[in-house]
Amino acid sequence: MPLKPPNAISPHPTEFKSDKNRQAFRRRLRRWFRANARDLPWRRTQDPYAVWVSEIMLQQTQVVTVVPYYERFLKQFPTVSDLAAADESTVLKLWEGLGYYRRARQLHRAAQVIVEDHGGIFPTRFEDVLSLPGIGRYTAGAILSIALDQMHPIVEGNTVRVYSRLDGFDGRTDDRQGQNHLWSFAENLVTRQQPGELNQALMELGSEICTPREPSCPSCPVRVHCRAFETGDPTAFPASSRRMNYEDRYESAVVVEREKRVLMRECGPGERWAGLWDFPRFDVSTKLAKSQHATFVTQALHEATGLNVELKRPFWETRHAVTRFRIRLTCYRYRLTESDTNELANQNGFRWIQVARLQDLPLSVTGRLIADEIQSG
Ligand code: SF4
Repeated sequence: MPLKPPNAISPHPTEFKSDKNRQAFRRRLRRWFRANARDLPWRRTQDPYAVWVSEIMLQQTQVVTVVPYYERFLKQFPTVSDLAAADESTVLKLWEGLGYYRRARQLHRAAQVIVEDHGGIFPTRFEDVLSLPGIGRYTAGAILSIALDQMHPIVEGNTVRVYSRLDGFDGRTDDRQGQNHLWSFAENLVTRQQPGELNQALMELGSEICTPREPSCPSCPVRVHCRAFETGDPTAFPASSRRMNYEDRYESAVVVEREKRVLMRECGPGERWAGLWDFPRFDVSTKLAKSQHATFVTQALHEATGLNVELKRPFWETRHAVTRFRIRLTCYRYRLTESDTNELANQNGFRWIQVARLQDLPLSVTGRLIADEIQSG
């Protein structure tokens, strides 16, 4: 069959040459998966709650990072009801370092919905699962197929790439047309026999063999079915997505200490790290000269807290990226001036927290790095 011209989207998803051919594809993939699947803790259970936790943690996060978080989480919250009954700050503390904290808050909220509406039993109807906070079409299908062997197709990061290559699809994968195309491809692939295994095998293939930049085509169990392999240039599929336009930002975090306590605030709803604790943090205009930053931050700190402070020194600087922002973060250390009598600095939710207690608070990644610096020094 000739390949489509570049950027053409076929009106129908590519069929395998025949049902027999499609069955041969599944057989080859399953055989490879049974022999090569990584032994991961969430693959040793068919508890939909545990599979759900793993699926949420694995969004935007690598398997190797997730494993210890998953094990700690399931140890602390072995059931949906345990999770639902927990304080949000305990949930966020266990999530600390995984990032994208909205996932944790929605997981917690969804557990409460399961207790309220389903008696604490993870629902088994697709529509019920889909209606839970933080669960979309992919996650609902993944949980129900993996845990309960219900027949649902899946499309996520790895399978987008695998389907595009198998199908020789070089259209955009992030618009409605491209997504419809890929979901149709997945629907044609999924089967009643052990759909959970098939879905996991597709994802494993994308993760271990059909990788973004250097797919291991010579050792791929399904290369005889792959149209991208036929072209000799599999990495041309899928078409590269648009480059992220990053925006530069300067931020400052502030450490103010008073008798073994440090000034902190809990981030409110709608803020970047809602529910986590953070050091006072200020945006600094990128138009401001570097030499003016400290003066700006000192004033901003005084306005926010009412405290009279003197700069000791900037003590730490790092660069990191959050969504589309490239952030240069400078951390300043202050001491209170002798004239300061404002004991609590309670404006805007600021609190004095014992330095020894920092290890128990859920913090952002950079907040934790600063806390470690303070505690080690
Ligand atoms: Fe991916 Fe290569 Fe296998 Fe095709 S043959 S599915 S491009 S690894």
